Amino acid sequence: MESILLIVVLTLLIPIATAEDSKLEANPSVVDQDQSSYNNDPFNKPQHITPLTLPDSWPTNIHRNPINRSPPNIKTKLVMLGTGMPSPNPYRGGPSHAVIIGDSTYLIDAGEGIWRSIAKAALINGDGFSQALSPKKINTLFLTHLHQDHTVGIPSLILNPLNWIFGIKLKIYGPKGTKDMLDHIVSAWKIDAEAAIADGYDPANSGTTGHDIVFPENGLVYQDNNVKVEAFRTRHASLQDSFAYRFTTTDRVIVFTGDGGPFHANIVRAAKNADILVTETVTEDNIRYAPWGGNTVEAKKKEIFRFHFSPTVLARIANQAGVKKIVLAHEQNYNNGENYNALGLSDEVKAAGFAGEIFSAMDGDVY
Ligand SMILES: [Zn+2]
Ligand SMILES: [Zn+2]
Repeated sequence: MESILLIVVLTLLIPIATAEDSKLEANPSVVDQDQSSYNNDPFNKPQHITPLTLPDSWPTNIHRNPINRSPPNIKTKLVMLGTGMPSPNPYRGGPSHAVIIGDSTYLIDAGEGIWRSIAKAALINGDGFSQALSPKKINTLFLTHLHQDHTVGIPSLILNPLNWIFGIKLKIYGPKGTKDMLDHIVSAWKIDAEAAIADGYDPANSGTTGHDIVFPENGLVYQDNNVKVEAFRTRHASLQDSFAYRFTTTDRVIVFTGDGGPFHANIVRAAKNADILVTETVTEDNIRYAPWGGNTVEAKKKEIFRFHFSPTVLARIANQAGVKKIVLAHEQNYNNGENYNALGLSDEVKAAGFAGEIFSAMDGDVY
């Protein structure tokens, strides 16, 4: 790939504290720049719920530190980079995960703010992770599907490192359209690329290639000394192509469903006896609070569960597959702000009959 130099400034400005701001301005002792002004979380409880002020974004509801739950004797680590969904929760990055084996790293999906999420995981989890998550070690990305929330980080993933190291060499595997998407990203930033070469950048230092997965049901996508990755075709709303990925290493099987939908036997196949199923779900109990999908509970269920697993469907898949542990991300945990339960979706999947372990992940968690 030709060289590209880009300054990407990803700034998420969410005006949740307008009244609080004016209160702060009126009190000079509070706005003095000292350590305490970096440790508070200004929060004005919203009177109107919008996609920017959903209760699952309130710092009073979900603002916990990352946790490392990975057994020390297990070499294969699952790192939750971005656990968000499309609604812009300031405490969660866009959907992205990493499997780290020694100093080799494999990414699954590339959501909004991917480098911020990678940096957070590296800072929290110590030197081993910061080595494994350095751009030179990020050579493989698997895309579950081409919805924007899972792919919009790709330009940043491949272009931003040119500003602080000499580039990134990356192979991207994904559904039909992956290669085309990558070609368009490269051409969209060609002015930057031409300027970078004129400024002396050597294009040999970077290169990204896209690889479309075209087999009809399931098959081997990737294999090296650490890992075997198989893809299983799934169904996600109106998309023609979406895949679950099954990672088999020497000491673990980890399966990523991507976004869900109705029950699908291929997901059970993908997840057969998995140690960890990384997946998503949407509340059924509180679906009336979902800000999309229709005006009635029935309409919302019909529409939302075309796109995502209900807790009932997820429990059925996990039980049939014999999954040991579920790690939830991309959660759509709707409720009103006062009754919000951070573990609401874990509880719903358990109530639907899943008896294994289940965790509601945050960015930076390790499993
Ligand atoms: Zn999707
Ligand atoms: Zn999604």
